[in-house]
Amino acid sequence: MRSFFSTLLLLNWGLLILLLAIALGIMFLKDFTIPILHPVLYFLFVLLAIYGTFYMSSAVAKRVVDPLSLLEEKTREINAGDFGAELSYPDIRELAQLTMSINEMATRLKNQFLDLNVEKEKFNSLLQNLKEGVFAIDSNGKILFQNRNIPFALVAPGSQALDFTKAIIHKGLLNFIKTQMKEKSEGKIEFEMGYHEYSVRFYPIQNNGIVYLFVGVVSEITEDRQYERIREQFFQNASHELKTPITSIKGYAETLEIKLQLSEDSGEKKFLNAILRNTERMIRIVEDMLTVTKLEQHTTICQPEEFKIYELVRNIGDSVGVLISRKNQELIIDIDPKLEVYADLVLMEHLLINLISNASSYSPESTSILVRVKELEKFYLLEVADQGIGISPEDRERIFERFFRVDSNRSRKEGGTGLGLSIVKHIAKLHKGKVEVNSNPGGGSIFAIEFPKKAYLPT
Ligand code: ADP
Repeated sequence: MRSFFSTLLLLNWGLLILLLAIALGIMFLKDFTIPILHPVLYFLFVLLAIYGTFYMSSAVAKRVVDPLSLLEEKTREINAGDFGAELSYPDIRELAQLTMSINEMATRLKNQFLDLNVEKEKFNSLLQNLKEGVFAIDSNGKILFQNRNIPFALVAPGSQALDFTKAIIHKGLLNFIKTQMKEKSEGKIEFEMGYHEYSVRFYPIQNNGIVYLFVGVVSEITEDRQYERIREQFFQNASHELKTPITSIKGYAETLEIKLQLSEDSGEKKFLNAILRNTERMIRIVEDMLTVTKLEQHTTICQPEEFKIYELVRNIGDSVGVLISRKNQELIIDIDPKLEVYADLVLMEHLLINLISNASSYSPESTSILVRVKELEKFYLLEVADQGIGISPEDRERIFERFFRVDSNRSRKEGGTGLGLSIVKHIAKLHKGKVEVNSNPGGGSIFAIEFPKKAYLPT
């Protein structure tokens, strides 16, 4: 295979040699022909030279242009997604190399295209077979895809390329999605439809602050909710049923203690004391269970009023003082004495007692407990920070569940019921607020409760 340059050189030389040979031939023939024919011979020579040059140029052009137009056609086909068969190689080296590159590119693109198709199919079948319903909306508000597990009453089937306002049938869901899309934020909504309950999580997929699409995941939560109700029911029944027998056990044990007049070091006295200690503990558990039940059933009504939170914390400090001073701990109050909050005084007291006594129980001796209240634009932020053992990130969500303890032995030893934080969570909720726990930069935990000011209470 020759290069374009050598092909051109060879053809030129070939033509030159041919013309020289013909010129020599004509000069030789000239002596044997009559002079009148000489101009004819010269004319023929010129004609031959012109034809030869033309023929050579077109032959060279053809050898270049034909493979080039084939290449052009091939790239057009590739562009249109048709990879077809490989091109045959022309005999000019540079063009052969270009053809080889294009053939290789076509093969690579074809393989990538096939791989992409396989991936797309895999993704599609995964999406279609998910238990959850999944749909996506592009940045122009058109439905990009939806799987078959979305209830028809939420999103109309076969809504691809339709505007989401037309595709989403459920009014509540539609309003929620409109708000989330406007705010470009992640959110969750739960609602009932007939006998079914659904939860829809909706979030934007973004890169460098630009939202490319929004994805919605629909899960049926009917069963979960039923189990939750059964659990709550059991919890309520148990707390009600246990209250009377435990109180009477305590009553009988106390009567026995008085009647028997046992000496302090007798075995019977030790047994009686153990019975009394454990019934006290059970009473505390049952009382907390009843509190949770009342908060859950909304039998406890939140009756907010304006009061100075500093005074409340100071009074609590006095009542939990024994607990704190036993461990040589210090309670620091960082609250503006004039600051008034709008909350239920009794419930707030309950919440603070739980948080401060936890802070004391789960911290070593000679540490400080800080109670701080900040007034933000729309909220109050109440924080209880300790320098204690801290809570691992994976336990932070769970500690608000009923009876969840990171270390059951320690909790029991501290006289805990495992329900304090569940009560805290419910009280925060009753105030339309929320509670979260973070780690204290100086070691330990910070429990933060955020609840709205009077003017910003949701209606
Ligand atoms: P308990 O009666 O066991 O204290 P709570 O509901 O008040 O129950 O707390 C649940 C669990 O959360 C506790 O058992 C403990 O493991 C953890 N916890 C609560 N407060 C703190 C804290 N300030 N520091 C570390 N762990 C805590």
